[in-house]
Formats: sequence, C-alpha cells, structure tokens
Amino acid sequence: MDKIYIVVTMDVEPPTADTHPTATGPDNWEDSEKFIRGYADRAGEFGCPVSSFIHPEVTVAQGDLFNELGEKGHCVEGLHLHPWKFRDGKYKAHFGGLSENDMRAAISECISMWQGGMGRRPLYFRPGTFSANDNMYKVLVDLGFRGGSCSIPGRIWPRMNAIWTGAEPDPHRPHPIFRQLVGDLEFANMPVSVDFSERTVTKGSNWQKVDESAASSPDDNTVSGHRDMRPDWSDADAAFYKRTAGNIVEQLMARAPAIPTLNVITHNDNDFTDPEDRVCKNFMMALKEMTDACKSRGIEPVGATVADVCDMVLAEPVKMKPFVYA
Ligand SMILES: [Zn+2]
Repeated sequence: MDKIYIVVTMDVEPPTADTHPTATGPDNWEDSEKFIRGYADRAGEFGCPVSSFIHPEVTVAQGDLFNELGEKGHCVEGLHLHPWKFRDGKYKAHFGGLSENDMRAAISECISMWQGGMGRRPLYFRPGTFSANDNMYKVLVDLGFRGGSCSIPGRIWPRMNAIWTGAEPDPHRPHPIFRQLVGDLEFANMPVSVDFSERTVTKGSNWQKVDESAASSPDDNTVSGHRDMRPDWSDADAAFYKRTAGNIVEQLMARAPAIPTLNVITHNDNDFTDPEDRVCKNFMMALKEMTDACKSRGIEPVGATVADVCDMVLAEPVKMKPFVYA
C-alpha cells in the first residue's frame, strides 16, 4: 500500500435555536460560519480539503459560503438530514425509522430546498447519526445521488435506528437489499473509519464513556461502537489519537482494500479557529496522528474528498459476491 486517502468531513447542522437545545449544531449562524471556515483552515494545514454534508436549511442561509468553499476545492455537494429537524417537524423520526415512501418524500423535499440554496442539486448523502434502514440506498440511487458516507461500521444505537454491525469497512458499492453488504448499485458508500480493536459504550452524542453494563437497550440512549478519529471525544488525548490512527492504518494495511481511505467526521458546533478550544485541539492532534501514522509506515497520506473516493469506487468493477448455499 503506497497511499491512503484522508477524507475530512463535516456534518453541517442548523443552529440549535432552530432545532433542539440538545441537538448537534452551533448556537447561531455567525458561529456556524466561523467554525466552518476554521475547520477548513485547520484541515488545509495538513493538505486536506473538507467534504461537507449540509442540512437543507443551512444552504438557504449560507449557500454563498459553501459555494465559495467549493470554488476553493472543498466538496460542498453533500446533503445531511435528520428528518425530525427538517422544516415543520412533520417527520417525527430518525432517518432509519422512515418508511420507504417517507424516505423518498423527505429526501425529495430536501433536494428542492438544497437546490434553492445552492443553485444546484446535492450528489452525496449522509444520514444524521448514520440512522438507516435497508431502503436507504435504493431511494438515494432513484433520486439521483451518486454516493455518500452513510455508515459507521459496528455502531449499535437502537434509539436512533442506527445499527451497523457487520458492515463493510471500506469504500464500496452497496447492496440493493441488505445495507451492510457489498453490492452492485451505481452508488459509492464511504464508511467512517473505525478502530475495530476497541468497543466503547457512550451516552448519546456527548461521547462520554459509560459502564459497559449500560449497553444497549432501546429504552435508553447508550451507543455501543468502535472508536474513530472524531475530535469530539471528551476523554481523548494525544495518546488516544496516536493509538487509534495507528490501529486504523494497521487494519487498513491488513485488509488492503482497493481504495484505502481514512474518513473522519465532526459537526459545525466547535470553535475550530481557537487553538485553546478542546475540540479544535483534538482535531489538530487527529490530523497530525493520521498523517504521521501513514508516513511512519512508508505510506503517503493524500487529502481527498468524498467525490474523489466515489469516482474511484464507481470506476472499479462490481464486486458483489455470488450466491452460495452455505
Ligand atoms: Zn447531524
């Protein structure tokens, strides 16, 4: 393996004043712009463009900002959706809790609003909290999406309808019927990169570790999953990022996928312009450790976007496994 693609992504949420006080997102639009620009600047220091998945309302308020970032080489063709946050709150569900018809309706409405804000249609998708069911990919293909970052292998978060046990870990065409498997759809999915050597139980999206025995009942808000390189972890330090980046790269080398990719995620709710901000500090450590983990193993880290990765996946031959009895 001579190179690994580093894909830095951001889920761009509307301000919490417009959604819910405990939801992800900035307090207001001014902070949102500041944090988005800061994140792009920090990633740029490591040669990485940012791939944004943008909630539709944000395109209406900040379409010019994203079009400007697009002209600078960032990927701004991504749609992000938490159905319950969208518009008038008609969809009282997480994405994976929607019926196929409601998925179609909600995404169609999103495309329309997103197109109004950006002047063109979205091409890539990421569901809020990776909430999904088996209808997702075929609905996305039908509605004209060519790819996305729709999965986080190993996550078990029943309350959010986000269950990804056994999911394919590397960029691939998904299966039309069974979302965890490699398939033959004209769509490229780029999973979040995780460290399979560790499983952690956290409480909701505060990313605070809790006792394993608290996992994982649909009645509470515990999340069981593998660690990834997100800067949000509240218990992370330099040693964590070094260990996790090293483990992810070692596991990538062992799997040797056609398109080795290290995909990292966060949201627009921390001040990435402030070097003293905890999450900004974590992000700088994550970027350094991801690039160092490659270089120290003789691998070149190459900044890329979700669009670049999707181009490569769709250029590969179809790899769906044939049916076997047993
Ligand atoms: Zn989100």
